[in-house]
Amino acid sequence: MTLEIVQFMCLEDNFGILLHDAASGRTAAVDAPEAAAIERELEARGWRLDEILVTHHHGDHTAGIAALKAKYGAVVTGPAAEADKIEGLDRLVKPGDRFEFAGRPVEVIGTPGHTLGQVALYWPTEKLVFAADALFSLGCGRVIEGTMDQMWSSLQALAALPDDTVLYCGHEYTLSNARFALSVDPDNPALLAHAAEAKRLREAGKPTLPSTIAAEKAANPFLRADHPSIRARLGVDGAPVAEVFAALRRAKDSFR
Ligand SMILES: [Zn+2]
Repeated sequence: MTLEIVQFMCLEDNFGILLHDAASGRTAAVDAPEAAAIERELEARGWRLDEILVTHHHGDHTAGIAALKAKYGAVVTGPAAEADKIEGLDRLVKPGDRFEFAGRPVEVIGTPGHTLGQVALYWPTEKLVFAADALFSLGCGRVIEGTMDQMWSSLQALAALPDDTVLYCGHEYTLSNARFALSVDPDNPALLAHAAEAKRLREAGKPTLPSTIAAEKAANPFLRADHPSIRARLGVDGAPVAEVFAALRRAKDSFR
């Protein structure tokens, strides 16, 4: 039986995610941006919260942990590298670890850059990855704590997942990401189609996520840093690909 996945908005533009296994009745939240929104979704379905799986220490991913833990006694899993910055972790994981949720394996992929200890959670049997603030649709996270090289490696690790892996991320940023993406890769038909579809979805009041690894490899400029047209546009023709990525990320930081 497949996992039921519920995606909903929290705070301003964060995604809340619930995973539910009907056979065992177990439910997990990926991150805890906002306790009230998560409780509302749980109660609407008559679910209890058994686990919280935390990707990184930022407040818009952890603010709900204490209240949800107090109410449901949920077991909280998160990155060992950020244990000093996240209150309430019960189980520490590090890149390369494997654990189980409701009998399904979950692989911990290290994705440093946005924060130093951020992890993505990959569910190989379900073909799902929760990339939080590392990879967004048509964009990537700001490099706040790590180096550009680290972030580039993190994105490469995500891009190496099977093409049909379904991608969930931490924020609904696709439309603003599309504006930047089109400025650096304007002739990419996959990007033009992806951006048009995102616009249509938002106008219909729907989320633009999930995406897939294949769709992002085709349309997301941060995964296409070695494409000749992107190199040419940034004026970094012969540079190593990690430098092209860094130039892209810096251009996005100052893009208005
Ligand atoms: Zn963050």
